[in-house]
Amino acid sequence: MRKNIGIFLLLALSLPLFSLEVKGVRYSCSSSKARVVLTLDSYPYYRVEKEEKTLKVYLPGYEGEDKKITFPNSLVSSIRLVSQPVSFLVEVNTTRPFQYQIFRLGSPERLVIDIFFRNLSSINIRKVVIDPGHGGKDPGAIGWGGIKEKDIVLKVALYLRNFLAQEGLEVYLTRRSDVFVPLKKRVEFANKIGADLFISIHCNSSLSRRACGFETYYLSEALDDHARAVARVENSVVKLENPVEKWKLTILEDLSLLEFRKESILLAQLLQEKLDACLPTPNRGVKSALFYVLKGVHAPAVLVEIGFISNPWEARMLRKSYFQREIARCISEGIVKFTWKIALRENETL
Ligand SMILES: [Zn+2]
Repeated sequence: MRKNIGIFLLLALSLPLFSLEVKGVRYSCSSSKARVVLTLDSYPYYRVEKEEKTLKVYLPGYEGEDKKITFPNSLVSSIRLVSQPVSFLVEVNTTRPFQYQIFRLGSPERLVIDIFFRNLSSINIRKVVIDPGHGGKDPGAIGWGGIKEKDIVLKVALYLRNFLAQEGLEVYLTRRSDVFVPLKKRVEFANKIGADLFISIHCNSSLSRRACGFETYYLSEALDDHARAVARVENSVVKLENPVEKWKLTILEDLSLLEFRKESILLAQLLQEKLDACLPTPNRGVKSALFYVLKGVHAPAVLVEIGFISNPWEARMLRKSYFQREIARCISEGIVKFTWKIALRENETL
């Protein structure tokens, strides 16, 4: 009896004095994915129970409106929202085994529950889209000795295409020559052909001649001034586009940018690892920033800044064919390792 009182007290103390409210629930369901977004009173604590075809997420101390939504002919058969005595339950029922991810978003406080289904046929990463930055009327950064970013990245992209093709991957380029391609068209192209992976290649530039090294970005909010500045420069090309696209200012509000986040981070890490192993230039790490060219790509997507053309030493190397080829070889190795990791991971969970 004393033990029971103890457990009761522990439970009571761990809950807030006043019940918290689930203020809103949004959900969407497609053939391969479901998403539930809960708008909450405050930073949520949650507990998860996963069965083969059911995911239960408990929010202790919360209450909200009971609801059951059914999805006929869908891989997610229903979503149940139930106010229980000590918690609020979100239950997602599926017709097939699934994978999930849960993450929080701030301002307002939200909890996002994603359910994924992958077809056996999509286990392997097959179609790779290489995006050489800039081109045509947009030279990109102009570097030491007058070298242009658009020329360097195209050469690296063409080498990369050959390396990846040798690995049996289906490779596409957003441009194969010195032409101008709007950012939005690059994304549309990748989605149209059903890219499994998207890699944008760029050169960095800095007011400081000393800045050097390579870094890889995935799409998320920038965490420092340098990352913000890099995104500002790479995004500035939209001014040259005709007609000028009206990009949403609330880019982070678009939850679609969180799609393939984990995979994009893994890809960025593997690319940095491989580049670090074979280039003499410094590893500046994996970073995040809001790049328009990565937004809306329905695949793992990264942007690699292969080096600073504003640095005299690095610019000299970047214009050399063997160095361009070496960069492409390292990136290719990183992509191949990524495809293996994804295949192994999916085989484990299916
Ligand atoms: Zn660029």
